[in-house]
Amino acid sequence: MFKAFFNKKPEKAKLEIELLGFHDSLFFKRLKEDMEKRLPISVEEFESLYDIEDAFNEQRQQYYTPDILKHLHDQNNGNSVYRMAILNVDIFNPVFKYLYGEAQLNGRISVVSLFRLHEELYTGQADSALLFQRALKEVYHEFGHNLGLIHCLDWDCVMHTSTSVEEIDIKGGFYCSNCFRQIKIS
Ligand SMILES: [Zn+2]
Ligand SMILES: [Zn+2]
Repeated sequence: MFKAFFNKKPEKAKLEIELLGFHDSLFFKRLKEDMEKRLPISVEEFESLYDIEDAFNEQRQQYYTPDILKHLHDQNNGNSVYRMAILNVDIFNPVFKYLYGEAQLNGRISVVSLFRLHEELYTGQADSALLFQRALKEVYHEFGHNLGLIHCLDWDCVMHTSTSVEEIDIKGGFYCSNCFRQIKIS
């Protein structure tokens, strides 16, 4: 399938990721390596002057994803790259009290929060390997929505919904073959 894709369109699609409000070059490097190995995309980091505090909601003590998505949308200037913001703070939107991430279906923008993926939040014990595994799953999940995928019932698939970290840990780390076949990267 990748071969056919490359024959048709030699120019790779691009995903630009902004680490908002924190910096971790090793995290980005590992994420980029994993994604470029598994998907026909190039993954680059982008920086902006956006102040994440602009999305802070005093009452909720959380950050509002519509503001962050609007920032990504404004940054995009109608060009065709995919953009994802990764944050390390707690996020919410009008529908959900908290979120692991949010993305436009068949769109270009997405947001992922690492905040609730930290094991120390639940057991008091940090686990950086587990954090990275969970982060990867949430990144593939949200990016999958950009690529046209909806939720999948297969627990081995990363497009399965998760309402807890236990569910994130149980589900698979990548798209099932059925979802993979439906991916539309452009
Ligand atoms: Zn989803
Ligand atoms: Zn699936």
